[in-house]
Amino acid sequence: MLELKGVHTYYGHIQALKGVDVTVEQGEIVTLIGANGAGKSTLLMTICGNPRAARGTVTFEGKDIGRLPLKDIARLGIQQVPEGRRIFSRMTVLENLQMGCTLADPANYKNDLDRMFAMFPILEKRQAQRAGTLSGGEQQMLAICRALMSRPRLLMLDEPSLGLAPLIVKQIFKTIQDLNREHGTTILLVEQNAFHALKVAHRAYVLQNGEIRLKGSGQELLSNPEVRALYLEGG
Ligand code: ATP
Repeated sequence: MLELKGVHTYYGHIQALKGVDVTVEQGEIVTLIGANGAGKSTLLMTICGNPRAARGTVTFEGKDIGRLPLKDIARLGIQQVPEGRRIFSRMTVLENLQMGCTLADPANYKNDLDRMFAMFPILEKRQAQRAGTLSGGEQQMLAICRALMSRPRLLMLDEPSLGLAPLIVKQIFKTIQDLNREHGTTILLVEQNAFHALKVAHRAYVLQNGEIRLKGSGQELLSNPEVRALYLEGG
């Protein structure tokens, strides 16, 4: 479904990605782990087209999307939930969800809203509440739901567990797994919480200093000594 080949991305003179190859097949959960500054967020942003890859190709469903206008990339069904959630905090929960379906067929709105509320009953209870007053976990769920309202073909999540209490982290990863299993959503997940992220992943990559250092199934990487030493201490 998605293929990055030899992708190099720069911020001015700083090279954040140095020839990265990554693939995501339809129906997979693929996880990307790595230390702070390894280039994980840059990889997701490069797929969305901002910043652009300076070299290499980004292909989605057989189409080179490396030079497409940003809105056209989103229209192909690629949705990112950025780090830090970025919900509209002054708008209500319901308004946030309405914003999410601007790219979708309005005919699906009611159905999709019911589906989100069935998945996250707390959001239904809080639908008239300002989003900024939700708890951290609820805001993350809202951010994920908002992205789902556009029925993405590929959902990219940047550190969905960041700053959340352990119980909520478990819930978020369960949601990710449910979305994939029950709705067939293809997911590219970036995480520092390597233990949970590898457990739910079909396949995973370890990014180090802008390069792919290791790849394998989630299980393989969970038992890899280097991964254990570097990313799973205390996990
Ligand atoms: P983290 O988990 O800390 O978010 P990351 O793996 O997502 O890290 P990136 O945010 O992709 O890493 O950053 C990769 C490199 O690019 C880092 O060296 C970072 O300092 C640099 N970088 C990221 N964004 C910018 C920017 N807007 N301008 C300049 N350099 C940047």
